[in-house]
Amino acid sequence: MSNAIRKCSLCLSPSVEELPEIQLKGVTSDCNPWPCSGVFCICRDCGHIQKKMTSRWLKDVANIYSEYNSYPLSEAKEQLVYDNGMPISRNKRLLNLFSKEITLPATGKILDIGCGKGQFLRCFSEMYNGWDLFGCDQQEDLRSEIMSIPKACNYYTQNFEKIDEKFNFISLLYVIEHLFEPVEMLRSIKDKLHDGGVVFIQTGDLKVNPFDLAVVDHCSYFTLSTLEQLMRQAGFKIIASSNAWNSKEIGVLAQRDDNIDTPTKIINYYQENMDLIHRHNSWLTNILDDLKDFDSNRKIGILGTAISGTWLASSLQRESFFWVDEDLSQTGKKHMGAVVMSIKMVPANSMIYLPFPNSIARDICSRLQKTRPDIEFKYPQ
Ligand SMILES: [Zn+2]
Repeated sequence: MSNAIRKCSLCLSPSVEELPEIQLKGVTSDCNPWPCSGVFCICRDCGHIQKKMTSRWLKDVANIYSEYNSYPLSEAKEQLVYDNGMPISRNKRLLNLFSKEITLPATGKILDIGCGKGQFLRCFSEMYNGWDLFGCDQQEDLRSEIMSIPKACNYYTQNFEKIDEKFNFISLLYVIEHLFEPVEMLRSIKDKLHDGGVVFIQTGDLKVNPFDLAVVDHCSYFTLSTLEQLMRQAGFKIIASSNAWNSKEIGVLAQRDDNIDTPTKIINYYQENMDLIHRHNSWLTNILDDLKDFDSNRKIGILGTAISGTWLASSLQRESFFWVDEDLSQTGKKHMGAVVMSIKMVPANSMIYLPFPNSIARDICSRLQKTRPDIEFKYPQ
């Protein structure tokens, strides 16, 4: 498979086009800078944006996973999002919203694939306390953490295919974009669902978040249209899908479609997605151009030590900068050699850059500006 253009990972068409003009610095999904994001491709028959699986990229990804750290700086147990200015757990928000879409029985078995430290399982269990919990991830050292959750029944580190169990609910949060063969994986998930069982997928929304392109170990880049197409292609019918359950994310709830005699019609999003990736590429380049000429004697603060902030810091290659993060468990720590400050600690008259899509950055800015009117906030237009 080395250097060969494989088939499209969504529709399996051999007609996949390389996009050598898209060249970005990379960031690993556990937020470390990486020399390059990889070679992008687009399928001419369905428009799915994906990585070319060169031998170099495969080696990079293997290296990233072998030293993976799911929670690099933060000690927070749960990632927080803001609802009308109020912090709320991201998982809780997701579960509240999708419980309006489906009614789950009082008891059942849930498997969370890529469960990490079990944040989603814990949250799910608070809402559906009659359910038995099962987790699956690569790291053996997460076992005790998962098994310490009340109602936890098993933790799997083996190949998914070998799990000898059926479930009523299977979740994949921020997993599908990493899979080399997502259709095949979803088909085997289908076989492990009880009748009436539900699969829940949540991933980043390429449509609104150009920074997603920087993530080295992402193999696929979905929009809601291509994610829905993937689900249909794997033999699922969609119960609900949304780009609004969490900002910058898309999600799908689906069930097995037993009407398998009907062949799936592939919709082609080639032109739309081709325009999207080029628009995102220019947008990212513009951010760097904007900041390149910024007074070199003035320190720049970058808000957020995650993907977009890490990409910005490594692309700017600026001598002096500092981090600002609202997650106080990061205060005083270092990332890429620079210190993380709380918003309170930021020196007066500093400039803080918010590396987020415009509408999100505007909201964050209006919230932070209230506490620190003496700071200049800049963000992408
Ligand atoms: Zn395709």
